Amino acid sequence: MTKKKVLITGGAGFLGSHLCDRFMKEGCHVIAMDNLLTGDIANIEHLLKEKDFEFHHHDVSKYVHVSGELSYILHFASPASPIDYLKMPIQTMKVGSLGTLNCLGLAKDKGARILVASTSEVYGDPQVHPQKEDYWGNVNPVGPRGVYDEAKRFQEALTMAYHTFHGLETRIVRIFNTFGPRMRLDDGRVLPAFISQALRGEDLTAFGDGSQTRSFTYVDDLVEGIYRLLMSDYPHPVNVGNPQEITINEFAEEIIRLTGSKSKVIYKPLPKDDPKQRKPDITLAKKILDWEPKYSRAEGLKPTLEYFKQKVLG
Ligand code: UDP
Repeated sequence: MTKKKVLITGGAGFLGSHLCDRFMKEGCHVIAMDNLLTGDIANIEHLLKEKDFEFHHHDVSKYVHVSGELSYILHFASPASPIDYLKMPIQTMKVGSLGTLNCLGLAKDKGARILVASTSEVYGDPQVHPQKEDYWGNVNPVGPRGVYDEAKRFQEALTMAYHTFHGLETRIVRIFNTFGPRMRLDDGRVLPAFISQALRGEDLTAFGDGSQTRSFTYVDDLVEGIYRLLMSDYPHPVNVGNPQEITINEFAEEIIRLTGSKSKVIYKPLPKDDPKQRKPDITLAKKILDWEPKYSRAEGLKPTLEYFKQKVLG
């Protein structure tokens, strides 16, 4: 039997590289595509020598070609942290729109099933808590985060259009704040920021008054949820995230405790449109995927801290 071939866009990124590992373990032939704008070849270096792994250095916003048959496409290419998409607003919109269009077109051409990476950001600064898939969200289209949020909302709409109009097999995962090894130290997100500050003995920078909440998911749990969703027959969006909610202040104290750091928490202005609260309702994922997170935040933070220690302290 020939191996199933999988294209993973953003394959050298944080999530993409973990997905490459998973699909290699499942015995697939994996093609990782990445323009290395925010991805890093070091994340997939261990796979480059494998005969069933290919790396294509390509920007998915431009026409995408893959020869031969293709079973699955996972579209994970995009700048994904607020400072990244503020720095690269046009690329962010292009990869969410044109990149998605190219991937959907390729899926149609190959008769492949496609899963697109959506986000809790489609809920914006949510007025419904926790967030359920049937909540339409509260997004400012012209605010600084709009480039990411609206690109992902457009991506969902386009994906559904290909599903209903062309009968394409589509899956949409709404990803909540995820952490683990291979996150970029300087991506500006709260977890790498706090951990690197704590390890260096610098003050931890909480934005606003630190009362805003997030719910952090360990990457292995996310990958399992994504795999199950791809293998399911459910075409509508599904939240995959850990509902364990925490304020940014509590999170800062947790990182200080876990690292044994003497750092203090200092306060900086809250970025515009920063969501006040975020927590997934995962009733749907439990029901249709029989999925729920296995790792607590503390369990996930252990390997993550080890990774960051190596990066920061060498
Ligand atoms: N945040 C913070 N200090 C930092 C970076 C982020 O207090 O150094 C806050 C940010 O304002 C937000 C939360 O932490 O309320 C999560 O931010 P992140 O950039 O990780 O992701 P988001 O969920 O906002 O996309």
